[in-house]
Amino acid sequence: METKVLKFGGSSLADAAQFRKVAAIVRADPSRRYVVASAPGKRFPEDIKVTDMLYDCFDLAARKENIEDAFAKIEARYNGIVAELGLDLSLDAEFRKIRMAIEHHAGKDYVASRGEYLNSLILARYLGFAFIDAEAGIFFNENGTFDDKHTYKALAALLAEAEYAVVPGFYGSMPNGTIKTFSRGGSDVTGAIVARAAEASIYENWTDVSGMLMADPRIVENPRVIEEITYRELRELAYMGATVMHEEAIFPVREACIPINIRNTNAPEDPGTMIVPQSDRFSDTVITGVAGRKGFSSITIEKDRMNTEVGFGRKVLNVLEDFGISFEHAPTGIDTMSVVVATAAIAPCKDAIIGRIFRDANADSVTIEDDIALIAIVGRGMVRNKGTAGRVLTSIADRDINIRMIDQGSGENNIIVGVSESDYTAALQAIYHEFVRGA
Ligand code: ASP
Repeated sequence: METKVLKFGGSSLADAAQFRKVAAIVRADPSRRYVVASAPGKRFPEDIKVTDMLYDCFDLAARKENIEDAFAKIEARYNGIVAELGLDLSLDAEFRKIRMAIEHHAGKDYVASRGEYLNSLILARYLGFAFIDAEAGIFFNENGTFDDKHTYKALAALLAEAEYAVVPGFYGSMPNGTIKTFSRGGSDVTGAIVARAAEASIYENWTDVSGMLMADPRIVENPRVIEEITYRELRELAYMGATVMHEEAIFPVREACIPINIRNTNAPEDPGTMIVPQSDRFSDTVITGVAGRKGFSSITIEKDRMNTEVGFGRKVLNVLEDFGISFEHAPTGIDTMSVVVATAAIAPCKDAIIGRIFRDANADSVTIEDDIALIAIVGRGMVRNKGTAGRVLTSIADRDINIRMIDQGSGENNIIVGVSESDYTAALQAIYHEFVRGA
């Protein structure tokens, strides 16, 4: 039988009404066999996520303050869901155990993980699915990294025993048996790991948006949803800050070539975004998405006859390496070389870097310009369409915006332009409108 793995985020499981939507989605397709659940998220904008309430309890206990009231609120969230769903389930014994553990200074990750643990107990009961504790199937190495070998073997065996199951997201076990969580938003990672272990045909990631957008909605009004995006394109856009998923969640499924489908629990009829290993479907827009970030600086080094000097670039980059700074782009000219870096990374050691480049590379001049925003225009369709770079540059120039840097990725699926931070919004809008509104 085909196996689909679904992950529901916190807002999809925030209250009983959301649980009902989740159950309808899961039951609509018998191949939806394994469900990964987050802790209850926000029901309204000012609401507090259960994970944050648990962190609060941990902090109170660490300060030796009473956790009674704070913990009672957590109990009330879960009890409200259980009662409204009309389930014959008491979590009292679990609450007692968790509360005692917090009062006795249990580890922070253990405390945080109980949010998904309890929610998954409820969801398993509501769906009539088995409950598989992530503690028994997801493992970390001694140094805190994910232990893939141990996990996939153990988890595959556990999943094989259950036709349908719920697995709590966000956590697993350390070699000594203590609980460790992934970083915030880590249920996405659990979902990807379960999909991989189950050899799923698809990983459905259910959230509260109808997919990934072609541009940031705070910058572009009502941007289009991306229908299909490759893992590589996603990484390019995610690097610039555009993402609907935890970045680490990509790797387990990418390695196994399992597609991800981002879906909306509140609009299940929307097809969402498909994230696929490769695609030969091309959209009418040529570009798949556009995203950007502020906060970059450009170090420009000038040296007469630089082009004839073997090893010049290495000397410059060596200086950055010695300072532990990674660089984003390094466009070069005949007698100039620029290196684009994060402003925050060079700020504490600007003068020292300038001095070292002068000395080591024997430069004529070294200058640093701040206030650069980078915009990545990403799309597999660029390889096939001539004139994309021209359209990007013209659309920006038409708005009278000065381009401070251009870099085309060698895979020909991205173009990066640098503009002044004050021009960032207008430049991004111009590019979006050129490709999307004009499509
Ligand atoms: N509940 C955890 C968090 O709030 C993990 C998750 O929701 O993915 O970060």
